[in-house]
Amino acid sequence: MVQKLQGLGCTVKETVMKAIVIGAGIGGMSAALALEKAGFSTAVYEAVKEMKPVGAAISIWPNGVKCLNALGLKAQLRALGGNMAFMAYNDGHSGSTLTRFSLSPLVQQVGEYPYPVARAELQALLIDSYGRERIRFGKRVVRVEQHASGVTAWFDDGSQAEGDFMVAADGTHSVIRHHVLGEHVERRYAGYVNWNGLVTIDESIAPAEQWTTFVGEGKRVSLMPVSGNRFYFFFDVPLPKGLAQDRATVKDDLRGYFAGWAEPVQRLIASIDAQTTNRVEIHDIEPFSRFVRGRVALLGDAAHSTTPDIGQGGCAAMEDAVVLAQTLTAHSLGIEDGLLRYEARRVERTRDLVLKARKRCDVTHAKDAAVTAEWYAGLKEETGERVLAGMCDTIEGGPLG
Ligand code: FAD
Repeated sequence: MVQKLQGLGCTVKETVMKAIVIGAGIGGMSAALALEKAGFSTAVYEAVKEMKPVGAAISIWPNGVKCLNALGLKAQLRALGGNMAFMAYNDGHSGSTLTRFSLSPLVQQVGEYPYPVARAELQALLIDSYGRERIRFGKRVVRVEQHASGVTAWFDDGSQAEGDFMVAADGTHSVIRHHVLGEHVERRYAGYVNWNGLVTIDESIAPAEQWTTFVGEGKRVSLMPVSGNRFYFFFDVPLPKGLAQDRATVKDDLRGYFAGWAEPVQRLIASIDAQTTNRVEIHDIEPFSRFVRGRVALLGDAAHSTTPDIGQGGCAAMEDAVVLAQTLTAHSLGIEDGLLRYEARRVERTRDLVLKARKRCDVTHAKDAAVTAEWYAGLKEETGERVLAGMCDTIEGGPLG
């Protein structure tokens, strides 16, 4: 695309490259915003007619927050975020506190706050910041073609779109991943089921400004504050894949899995709305090293699918977006070269996040019962220093420090 710009008394021609962004999730929208801010033209195509995010909420750790700040969303994000000032682990059965500490040292070290936010509100923020009316909903990509100077996406309604390059942010079930890798990759079941939702804050369950987690038997029950006087809650239970699920029995199922657990856990189960509680079988994908083929770049879960055990999947997608825009603007050897530089900066970082999450997942969910018992015992000795050091390390590995 060629635009005429009026310069200092002269007319100059500038080529504006056009990105086709596939997927209007966290990754696709962050990428579209980052690319537009960097001067690219974008068109976003989304398969569904209406966005219904999987999961009730998401914790955006400071590495993700810094990326959204860089996209100009600082104040809006802060308004959506809960005030998570403390972190605590409680024994699931007795309810007694194993450890409790302030998150302030983390905030001081990394220079930003973590923000748990309702997922639908984050999604709406990203979409509205871009312009909801500009997104082409109901456009499912079925095929991609590349040629010397561009890329074409074909949709299931028979239509097509052209661009100079493509950002494939089509999620963990990505169809474009096959085009990039030349092979199919299987998702790996992580061994546990997660139920999540939102409830009104009740301090007889947990303190309002605390990330509280009850642990025992390789299970966990967790609560984080989001704005609007709500807790984001989730329950994790190690279970085989493919069990029948029925909204009508969610509460009874949870009462069964958490029989004998402390009163706050029972109160939480009683207070949840089964109709809006999500059930997810947790998966990840073995990390791979190719995110780019020619003019097509994978981004977000399409490139690296992780278990949510360190809360970094969405944050990593935001990081991808910022790095993609940075590498494309900082270099002048063409789109394909810029995309490869994006890949070079993202492969190791995201492999590290996926494998860290997998390790945390296995310890939390008693893949080896002895290791998990040792972790529970260690929590009684935890002052916060070790936990926060690990979190700071993860956060500071992001592109914005
Ligand atoms: P998605 O959000 O999956 O978006 C992909 C989009 O592409 C969708 O809108 C989809 O409809 C569209 N699409 C798919 N196929 C096509 C196609 N062929 N054509 C066009 N469009 C298509 N991350 C965190 O950072 N912190 C957390 O606390 C956290 N908690 C989580 C808890 C749970 C239970 C789960 C499951 C995940 C959690 N994550 C968390 C991870 C996070 O949700 C994902 O990493 C993030 O949503 C990925 O965003 P994405 O845009 O890459 O993919």
